[in-house]
Amino acid sequence: MARREVLKAFRFTLDPTRAQETELRRYAGAARWAFNHALAAKVAAHQERKQRIAALIGGGLAEEAARKQIKVSVLGKGVIQKAWVRARGSSRNGAEGICPWSHEVNNYCFQSAFDDADAAWKNWLDSITGKRVGRWVGYPRFKKKGRTRDSFRIPHNVNKPGIRLVTHRRLRIPKLGEVRLHDSARRLVRLIKCGQAVVRSVTVSRGGHRWYASVLCKVTVELPDKPTRRQAAAGTIGLDLGVTHLIALSQPADLGKGPTQLLDNPRYLRATTKRLRRAQQALSRTQKGSTRREKAKRRVARLHNQVAARRATFLHGVTKRLATGFHIVAVEDLNVAGMTRSARGTVQNPGRKVRQKAGLNRPILDASPAEIRRQLQHKTSWYSSTIAVADRWFPSSKTCSACGRQNPRLTLADRVSTCSSCGLTMNRDINAARNIAVCAVARPGVQPTGAGSDPRNVNVKAPATGAFTTMAIFQSLSAHGLSTDRANASIMSIPGVMPRARSSIPAPACAIPARSATCGLRPRACRSSCTSLTSRAAS
Ligand SMILES: [Zn+2]
Repeated sequence: MARREVLKAFRFTLDPTRAQETELRRYAGAARWAFNHALAAKVAAHQERKQRIAALIGGGLAEEAARKQIKVSVLGKGVIQKAWVRARGSSRNGAEGICPWSHEVNNYCFQSAFDDADAAWKNWLDSITGKRVGRWVGYPRFKKKGRTRDSFRIPHNVNKPGIRLVTHRRLRIPKLGEVRLHDSARRLVRLIKCGQAVVRSVTVSRGGHRWYASVLCKVTVELPDKPTRRQAAAGTIGLDLGVTHLIALSQPADLGKGPTQLLDNPRYLRATTKRLRRAQQALSRTQKGSTRREKAKRRVARLHNQVAARRATFLHGVTKRLATGFHIVAVEDLNVAGMTRSARGTVQNPGRKVRQKAGLNRPILDASPAEIRRQLQHKTSWYSSTIAVADRWFPSSKTCSACGRQNPRLTLADRVSTCSSCGLTMNRDINAARNIAVCAVARPGVQPTGAGSDPRNVNVKAPATGAFTTMAIFQSLSAHGLSTDRANASIMSIPGVMPRARSSIPAPACAIPARSATCGLRPRACRSSCTSLTSRAAS
């Protein structure tokens, strides 16, 4: 067990009074104003620089030299905040200014919004200079009321603790007062009382008709260094994420509804489609700017929020069971953004079959494969399991999980795969899940997670030929510190893994020398299958 401090957010649904809700909206509005104010200052500085460079280039200077010559700093939070304090004014003493109402809301709303603007600017800058990995971040955009999510953040002052849970059902937010909670905060209250959690900040946001408070805490947790006995015994599980079935598993597992190998996709969006369609039709019939339009809008937002909440609850349950129940969770590396890209195209070059593509995208996004992967990544690091990612181009569906033969003619319509070589006939998705389990584990670079390791670094390349050997898996598992027995058990737990090769699992070479270099005696501590050495040492 290793003690570590991690940041965890505890999310509660708020039950504000009418007056409190008005206040919450006002706070969110102030944060939006502050973000836009800070961003406007940055954009202005950026534009000024661009214009001056253009003027120099127009004067005959080379672009690079012009860029070097012009120094216009994009204002950071410190400068912006100081200027804002001078210029804000106040309606209390009649001082004119840019936001005389600022004293009506918590001052920290402004400060954290200035921080957010800094972060947005930096993300874009890092993205264009190549410092930032992952998805491209675009030029920061202004927040528009009704378009962006209503949200504000208040940091916690340790010397003057303003954010606190008064009871299990009441959260005190500085200046706003006590807000009732829909759900119980008993767990967090207990953690704070025994000093295991320290509040860092609270972020309040609105989704549909609900307001949520996400209390960010620094929590001291005990992270297990190695998988539990149950996890080690369960071994590896491969997941094939799909649309018909949300998840196909390489071995039967209980993910909340009894042991199964094919987990149905609940398709919460589809379940709400009828109601959502009616609500959207009603919305489109209303007049812009009318009270009825606002009402209809709220109804649509409420339905969407419901779908999101149900999906989140379900996925969290599934991913927790996977992370706590197995040693290695193997998934496929899916390019969800690419898979579900709109076919719309551009004005000059419009795409074809846009509606059909949208119809294909909807169930994929309803299954939210990227979210499953994201949740598994952090949960495996909490529960000392490992996530192994198989290569994006690994032909998991087209390969036979028993003999490794590839069938390039398999199409999406074939729900059952039959191998022409060994005659294995099984559900196509389960076959893929088995292959993913084997492929992901067999690659070097699969690192055990748990204390001190970062699961995000685990990325595994597919074998060049699509063939993998039991030997490779065995070596990979041994590298994870699994004993011979455990490694064997783990391999056997991948159903259909090359039954012919099972007998060829080698006894690992004994790392302990036959005789000690210092005393010349034979060591006794060999636990592996070199029985001859152990028995001789014992005698
Ligand atoms: Zn086969």
